[in-house]
Amino acid sequence: MLKVAKFGGSSVAEAAQFKKVKGIVESDPARRIVVVSAAGKRSSSDHKLTDLLYLCHAHLTYGVPCDNILQLIQERFVEIRDDLGLAYDVEGDFMALRAGLTRDTSVDELVSRGEYFTARLMAEYLGYEFVDATECIFFSYNGQFDLEKTYDAIRKAASQDRGIVIPGFYGSVPTGKIKVMSRGGSDVTGALAAAAVDADVYENWTDVSGILMADPRIVKDPDPIECITYDELRELAFMGASVLHEDAVHPVRAKGIALNIRNTNQPEAPGTMIVADLETADEQQNRFITGISGRKNFSVLTMKKTNMNTNVCLQQCLKVLEKCNVPAEHITLGLDTFALVAATSVLSDRLFEVMGEIQRICEPESLRLEESMALVALVGRKMTCRPGTAGKVFQCLGSHGINIRTINQSADEISITVGVDNKDYEAAIRLLYDEFAG
Ligand code: ASP
Repeated sequence: MLKVAKFGGSSVAEAAQFKKVKGIVESDPARRIVVVSAAGKRSSSDHKLTDLLYLCHAHLTYGVPCDNILQLIQERFVEIRDDLGLAYDVEGDFMALRAGLTRDTSVDELVSRGEYFTARLMAEYLGYEFVDATECIFFSYNGQFDLEKTYDAIRKAASQDRGIVIPGFYGSVPTGKIKVMSRGGSDVTGALAAAAVDADVYENWTDVSGILMADPRIVKDPDPIECITYDELRELAFMGASVLHEDAVHPVRAKGIALNIRNTNQPEAPGTMIVADLETADEQQNRFITGISGRKNFSVLTMKKTNMNTNVCLQQCLKVLEKCNVPAEHITLGLDTFALVAATSVLSDRLFEVMGEIQRICEPESLRLEESMALVALVGRKMTCRPGTAGKVFQCLGSHGINIRTINQSADEISITVGVDNKDYEAAIRLLYDEFAG
């Protein structure tokens, strides 16, 4: 059995968290590959070291001194080291870092140091080997991962007797320079490591006991999801449930590796298991609905043209959106009308261009824009081929005076998405949760 365990920023924020990580790693000899983020917030008013490093870089760029911020960052690492009684020469490495900083220092190089120092400390604390991400996570010139080279290097690094610790979030390009991923990228490093060694499980340790069935800011104490398929996860994440970096799913999914979201502060909780295979998923979960998520602030562009060939007009409108880089999230099609739904934040920047082009190309009888719509998605693999679910959704919302403005069911029937007014968003989620999960 081989497990890759990735620990997020809050799991490595201070010495007390490092101790929990050690307890978790030592409780299972299969946890031989550890990936860490940079130390995160210790409390809600604290700072993530990655944010501070980005801030330092902005100071450097504009020629503003950033010694105080660098000092803060150094002190965080020194404190962890001293509290744990480790020997790593943080001050020496920091001195070298500071001495090399100029206006031209690359942002990637500087912000990657959050993960680097955290991983150095973690490796010493666990008694594992430190393996720098520049030596095992490789990008090609086109910015994509060089998977072959990456997997070979990780496999080789992992083949030694001791376990290894890899800093997340960065790797190197063919010239050897450091490149960081987008924010939250340590999830991706963990997924690549798991795929490289064909791990049995990729554990992603964070500060919640798995993925919740609904947003806890809206629904009081929603239940955690025990088991979810990769397809359902995509639906939930797309509709706003923030779980994992979206690029983290592909490497493990492609290899059929299960992904387990766990809580460092509650290691006994099983967390959420994300699996490819439906049978395993269904054995583990009795619930009819897997989760409910959604997002506010969509715009609906409705077009009417009697006797038009709707399909031609629709294609023309979609081309306009594509040209303007505005993805259509949903399409509702009638005989002489159709509506396109797009995120207001994206559409508003290009609104006049989009409306003008559609007017010019399609010459509709009417073209209407409505803003402030929210999308709410009910997701569950067990809805497939089960009559009555959509009816229940409409009945539940309708009987509480919530008007449904758009309706969409995914082709595989694992999600039903309805558009409601922004002001009804929270109520709709609570009602659907009570109806299907409560
Ligand atoms: N430290 C980076 C961030 O804050 C990467 C990560 O945490 O995964 O985004």
